[in-house]
Amino acid sequence: MAVERYKAKHPDKDHLYYVAHRDEIRERRRLKRLEGEAERQKVREQKHQAALERRKIAQRERGRARYASNPNHIKEINRKSANKHPETGLACSQRKRARMRNATIGVIDYKAIIERDKKRCQICGKQIRKVDYSFDHIIPLSLGGAHSQENLQLTHRSCNSSRGAGRLPAQIRF
Ligand SMILES: [Zn+2]
Repeated sequence: MAVERYKAKHPDKDHLYYVAHRDEIRERRRLKRLEGEAERQKVREQKHQAALERRKIAQRERGRARYASNPNHIKEINRKSANKHPETGLACSQRKRARMRNATIGVIDYKAIIERDKKRCQICGKQIRKVDYSFDHIIPLSLGGAHSQENLQLTHRSCNSSRGAGRLPAQIRF
C-alpha cells in the first residue's frame, strides 16, 4: 500500500528507493509528526498558563471588590477560616519570620509535628484544642535555631507567648 501511495505521489521516482529506505523514511515521518505534536503541545501549554494567569487576576479583582463592599464581613470570614485551619496561617507567618531572620528554612510537615507531640503542649504537657495550636521554636530563631521540623514543637498559644523569646526551653525533644 505504502509503495503504491509513494508511486502515485512521486511518479518520476523509482519506488525501489522507497522500498530500500522504507524504515528510514517512516522514522523521519514519525519524528516530524512528533515534533509537530510537541510544538502544538507547547502552544497549548502556553495558552493554558495565560488563561490561568488571567483567571488569577480576575479572582483577585473580584476579591478586592468584595472586600471593598463589606470589609467587616470578609474579616469575619477570614477569622473563622483561620480558627478552623490554624496550621495554614501559622505556617505562612512563621516562614516569613524565618526568612526575615535569615534562618535556615527546612521543609516542615506541621501535621507530623502535631502527631509527634501527640497533640500535647510541649510546655505545660496538657492536650491542646486545634484552635490553640501554636508552634514554638525549641531553640529560638534569635539564638540561631533553625526554622525546621526538628526545631519546632507544639504548644498552646498562651504557653508559647508566656515563654518569651530568647529563653531556651527546659527540655529539648527530638
Ligand atoms: Zn500549654
